[in-house]
Amino acid sequence: MSSSSSTSNRALKIRVIGPDRVIFEGEAASIQYPGGDGLYGILPGHAPMITTVEPGLLRIKDEGGGQEVIALARGFVSISNNEIEFAVDAGERADEIDLNRAQAAAERAREHLEAGTTGREEYDLVRARYALLRALNRLHTHEVSSHK
Ligand code: ATP
Repeated sequence: MSSSSSTSNRALKIRVIGPDRVIFEGEAASIQYPGGDGLYGILPGHAPMITTVEPGLLRIKDEGGGQEVIALARGFVSISNNEIEFAVDAGERADEIDLNRAQAAAERAREHLEAGTTGREEYDLVRARYALLRALNRLHTHEVSSHK
């Protein structure tokens, strides 16, 4: 037999880096992440690839069905030789998420969006939309992790 029998066991090396820290480093059997054009599932042996990352949930799965979840903001991911490196503008492991802060951020962003474009640069609305997505994703990530 070749060494391929080991490929189902945490064969992926994962690093998630933010602007000022390593958010996660470890191994996985598979992952699922929010790419710019939808969810991507990655197994060992995936072809080299670079994609964008949008606010959403990164699932880091082990071979037994367990998973760690991380809230990602925006960024990029590169996949090569079973090594997966995320570079994101923010990210939190589920146990790091401050729920009150995320709720307050979601409320602020909603108020901005409801105020509409009048007197506001369009870019402000794009920022408010992403702030809302980040906040809702933090709340969702916490929710998912507490039901694991
Ligand atoms: P806020 O308005 O509350 O600052 P934000 O979405 O603008 O939220 P980011 O710019 O995405 O915040 O993140 C700035 C830093 O704060 C990052 O290090 C991020 O991990 C952290 N952070 C933001 N919101 C939370 C939260 N609810 N819980 C834990 N860390 C958070």
